[in-house]
Amino acid sequence: MVRVTEVARTKAELATALASLEGTSALVMTMGALHEGHLALVRAAREAADNVVVSIFVNPLQFGPDEDYEEYPRDLAADLALLGTVGVEAVYAPEAAEVYPREPLVRIDPGPVAALLEGKTRPTHFAGVLQVVHKVLNLVRPDMAFFGQKDAQQLALVRTMVADLDMPVEIRAVPIERDVDGLALSSRNSYLSATQRIEALALSQALVLGKDAAAHGLPAAGVREVALRYLAEAPGVRLDYLALVDPQTFQEIGPDEGAAPAVRSALLAVAAWVGPTRLIDNMEIELHG
Ligand code: AMP
Repeated sequence: MVRVTEVARTKAELATALASLEGTSALVMTMGALHEGHLALVRAAREAADNVVVSIFVNPLQFGPDEDYEEYPRDLAADLALLGTVGVEAVYAPEAAEVYPREPLVRIDPGPVAALLEGKTRPTHFAGVLQVVHKVLNLVRPDMAFFGQKDAQQLALVRTMVADLDMPVEIRAVPIERDVDGLALSSRNSYLSATQRIEALALSQALVLGKDAAAHGLPAAGVREVALRYLAEAPGVRLDYLALVDPQTFQEIGPDEGAAPAVRSALLAVAAWVGPTRLIDNMEIELHG
């Protein structure tokens, strides 16, 4: 188990920790406030590589001016205790000043997909995400890096960056970890009151209804409508978006996609506020006919 004193807080300490590792390595990047969703990534990394490196960093660049950067939960000791239950070889937990000693002048342009869905409400979010992912991949140089399907658009953009910039790392996806009642695990769930937590179940429930509608042969418009109607009536939930998109391009699936195959996979994605807390979730579904 990695103790607090063994955590690399600087690039130099990280380099020292990495130099002692032999064999393949897998990176899991997080913002801390770890939960079973993060541990699913760590376990997948553990299976795939000799060494697991976890980064814990609340990245200011990916938060908008009115977002929860200051309030975001931070508890390094609890995070390390949880990581200790799975076992990791190195933890990189830098301060913001270590990561950004000055305003970065060279920036990653995440491209057009970053303007869709999440990007409509959070226009600078994915540029900030890719900036830090690029930096940490450069510092750790892992053989592979694991990202959660929970942040499907982020995962797709990381894959695109790695492909377009010829970055020598294999990106692997891990399915969404949910509570028994279906709520997707998220560090932001800790903001929810007991009532809000129940109200938040409407997100995953709407996705399940959409998935069932697709399984019963409803076309894209019908799937959207079923999920939207449910969310419109859900108490305490203010919808940001509900979208049925192509899982690669994140473009909305149109009503009449002429030469579309008999079965096509799609991503049903939702974002909504429950009280002041913004939550996201998504589900892969199959559209028939
Ligand atoms: P975060 O700390 O929220 O930035 O998340 C760090 C990584 O954990 C990202 O790749 C997320 O997609 C992933 N992750 C967060 N929650 C879950 C979850 N419930 N299931 C699977 N992966 C998750």
